[in-house]
Amino acid sequence: MRVHVADHPLIAHKLTYLRDRRTDTPTFRRLTDELVTLLAYEATREVRVAPFDIQTPVAPTQGIHLASPKPLVVPILRAGLGMLDGMMRMLPTAEVGFLGMLRNEETLEAHTYANRLPDDLEARQCYVLDPMLATGGTLAAAIRYLAERGADDITAITLLSAPEGIERLQSELSDLACPVTIATGAIDERLNEHGYIVPGLGDAGDRLYGVV
Ligand code: URA
Repeated sequence: MRVHVADHPLIAHKLTYLRDRRTDTPTFRRLTDELVTLLAYEATREVRVAPFDIQTPVAPTQGIHLASPKPLVVPILRAGLGMLDGMMRMLPTAEVGFLGMLRNEETLEAHTYANRLPDDLEARQCYVLDPMLATGGTLAAAIRYLAERGADDITAITLLSAPEGIERLQSELSDLACPVTIATGAIDERLNEHGYIVPGLGDAGDRLYGVV
């Protein structure tokens, strides 16, 4: 598994305001949107393209467009939805599928409660959106779910990650043949006893949707 941590002052600047508890919901949403667009720039570095011919006003030349099958963007409900617009601005012709994942509080296993994905993900590049890579349970389950349906290249984009979550993905997904990349805005110190990222930004879903 490849882990790409964004190293850019604009990303660090926007993350600072996202972390600040005084940041209100509309600003939080706008910053999330802007951050995803910046992270998508790096996360899509390996997106598959195909050449095609065009004519400029001056001469014929060859350009590129996204290859078929188109990449699939998969926000994890609920908080991943807040990242969708920013991602689609960068990949407007991608397709979108939705995954709802919940953790069973007794078994601590993540399970899928909603799934609107194409039946066949054969040879698809998938971009999974989830703002917080905390324990890693949800993201591990989502990535495995996509790989088992044929996705052959998966990138998860997260705003913040905990070292514990990255380690869990590394060990739980080591058997997957499909390459997995994590593109994240920052790796924070640790998880606290409630599974929150420290220093983190609190509950991303609540802050995106104004639930306090
Ligand atoms: N999910 C969140 O929204 N925040 C955390 O810190 C951890 C998981």
